[in-house]
Formats: sequence, structure tokens, C-alpha cells
Amino acid sequence: MNLTIAEVRLTPILVADPPLLNTQGVHQPYTPRLIVEVVTADGITGVGETYGDTKYLDLARPFAERLKGRRVSDLNGLFTVADEVAVDASEVENAVDVGGLRGVQTADKLRLSVVSGFEVACLDALGKALGLPVHALLGGKVRDAVEYSAYLFYKWAGHPEGVPAEQDDWGAAVDPAGVVEQARRFTERYGFTSFKLKGGVFPPDEEIAAVRALAEAFPGHPLRLDPNGAWSVETSLRVAEELGDVLEYLEDPTLGTSAMAEVAAKTGVPLATNMCVTTFAEIKEAFTKDAVQVVLSDHHYWGGLRNTQQLAAVCRAFGVGVSMHSNTHLGVSLAAMTHVAATVPDLHHACDSHYPWQSEDVLTERLAFEGGRVAVSDAPGLGVELDRERLAVLHRRWLADDGALRDRDDAAAMRIADPRWVTPSVPRW
Ligand SMILES: [Mg+2]
Repeated sequence: MNLTIAEVRLTPILVADPPLLNTQGVHQPYTPRLIVEVVTADGITGVGETYGDTKYLDLARPFAERLKGRRVSDLNGLFTVADEVAVDASEVENAVDVGGLRGVQTADKLRLSVVSGFEVACLDALGKALGLPVHALLGGKVRDAVEYSAYLFYKWAGHPEGVPAEQDDWGAAVDPAGVVEQARRFTERYGFTSFKLKGGVFPPDEEIAAVRALAEAFPGHPLRLDPNGAWSVETSLRVAEELGDVLEYLEDPTLGTSAMAEVAAKTGVPLATNMCVTTFAEIKEAFTKDAVQVVLSDHHYWGGLRNTQQLAAVCRAFGVGVSMHSNTHLGVSLAAMTHVAATVPDLHHACDSHYPWQSEDVLTERLAFEGGRVAVSDAPGLGVELDRERLAVLHRRWLADDGALRDRDDAAAMRIADPRWVTPSVPRW
């Protein structure tokens, strides 16, 4: 068996995205993703997926060059390779990560996000070579299916008129009735039983009313609200007070570990984050201050599936819950998320996934949610197969783009509908 990497393929693509609203603006009609393939000397191909914006691509290309000749089993070596690839720090350090809404952008996070795409591809190839599923390479599954939550968004019926876009059949959701209707469709289509609403879009009272409406429509079901740090400490405490009886947790109500700690000290509602704990370096302060009770992991920017397991172990040691964050992603990443989630013993909350919003994929067969769960594949590797024709179509869309959509920019998308739109400063309310 020859596990040496003989070839690496990087395919940037643009995938259709509905007009989902958040505190920064609205999703653009197409969003960039990067599909990573590593091919062994034996001709086994492994696939991974990560962010596809220019700054990730600029890093992934020299990274890919350095992988040739290494072995797909040398997963620790990927971090060494990452250290060798230069990032233009002036472009990323201290810039707010606009599209991802996951805290401040740093060169380290950028590197780790690229590592994750290659790590998943190497694990997929290694699993195929050994005849083992990825979860087995991670120590083995402790559950046969992974539960996901319905990721509800305020959204428009369509992208602004005149903007080239794919149509979706979800309709608009800009008030409590619309949010409840969207939740019903999620339940009918996928069987989800817990619900997360992306907030920070409308004034807090309107979002409180939406969560109340969800609680009435789905009594006893776990509910979450995530305004991406749009609120002050005072507003966060008021929302926690008003919704405390129905919330499973409140996600990033306010920005920064200190402000989160202030809120946490004065409410019994658990706080979750994918914004103030996004790296290992941020854990110590947040856990010492008891600022967060649930960390939302994300294998993309934590640096892969094995780092996600390490994060879960640290959380367990501190009695902090763990669940999973999601950005727009396709089936390759959903498969990776499902494999790693299957290996985490203390996963007490349903994971987030954007996947139901993605009408397009690069797989021959879409992954399915049944009863809100994705079955853990026991097939070798990730258990997915690339549809090369679809991949080529989505890559041609990326090639045809003049650059306007190659870097996700929710504020720019919002300015098409509202030319006076500026990204709100926080706290917005
Ligand atoms: Mg979040």
C-alpha cells in the first residue's frame, strides 16, 4: 500500500445561497467554497471541503504544493506544513471576519481553516486505503446517528430584483408567523426537533416575539437564539430574562469574553459561543471567567476533526458543553461533521447545519436527515462520492465570476437592496 500523496487538486466553486439575513447584511446569491482532493500513488482519492474565499485559496495553493510526497497518514505533519506557508498578516490580523461571523480573523485561524480541508481529504483517502470509515480512524463512533437542529433564518422571498440568482421555495420569513412557518417546513422535510433562530436582524423585541411564537408552536422543544454579538450586556440580560423559560441556550448575545462573562454572571440561561472561543488560546480566559457554558465547535476553523476532538476533551474537563457551529457548507463537510460528532461522547446538544439551505451539492447522492439525524456512514472514508460533472459546473460559475462573489460579503449584498446600508457597529441594541 502506497499512501504517498502524488497529486493534490483544488477546485474553487460558487454555490447557490438563499437570501438569509444576519446582523452584517444578507447572504449573496452565490457563496465560495473550496473542494480539496488528494490522490495517493495508488490512485486513491480523498476529498475535503473548506472556505473558498481568495485569502483561503491563496494559502491553500502553496500548501497543496508542499503536500506532494508526504503521506496521507501524516496528519500531524499538516500543521508543520501550515507553519511553513506564509500568510500576509497585514491583510487579516484584527479584521472582523465578515462572512463567517466567528470573531476576529487571524492568520492562525486562516491557516487552520486550510489545514482542515486537507486533513479531511487525507482522512478520507486513508480510510479508503484501509477500508475503514473516518470515524474509526478517529477512535470509533459512540452513536449511529448525529442529531442536527433546524437552522432558522429571517429571509427574503428572493434576492433583489435584477440580481442573477437561483430561486428557492422557502418563501419569506420576516416576522414571528414567517419564522414559525419556516420551522414547520423544516420539521416536515427533515424531522428536526430543536430550533435555532439567527437573530441580530430586527430589534430584540421582535426577535423575542419570534422565539415566543416558536415556543407556542413547538412546546417543550429546545430553542436557541443567536444575534452574533449584536446586543449590549443590558439587552442580553433583558432577553435572557424574557426568554429564560424556553431557551436551551442563548448564543453570543454580546461581543467579547468580558461582556459574555458579565451576562453569564447574572443569568441562569446558558450562553453558547462560536465567536469568543474560536481558538485554543481563547479557552483559558473564557473558562476561567465562566463566560460560556457551551462551545460550538467547527472543524473548519479549529483545524480539523482531530482538533475538534481535542476541543471536546478540554470542554469535558471544564464541565463546559459542546455542540457544533455551521457556516454555509456542502455534503463533504456535513459528512466530516457527522463522523467527528459521532466520536464525541458528551455531545448533549443538536449540531447546527446550513445544509438544508444548500440546494446544490458536489456529491452523487445528497446526505439525508431522518428524524433530524444524519446516519453515521460505515463505508470506507467519509462515505461520499464526488459528482465530477456538478463540480465542474460550479467551478465554471466561479471562473465566470468577475470577482464580485469570490469573497463573501454580506454587507455588499445588503447594499444592493439598501444603498445606504453600513455594517452596524456593535452593540447594535
Ligand atoms: Mg453563532
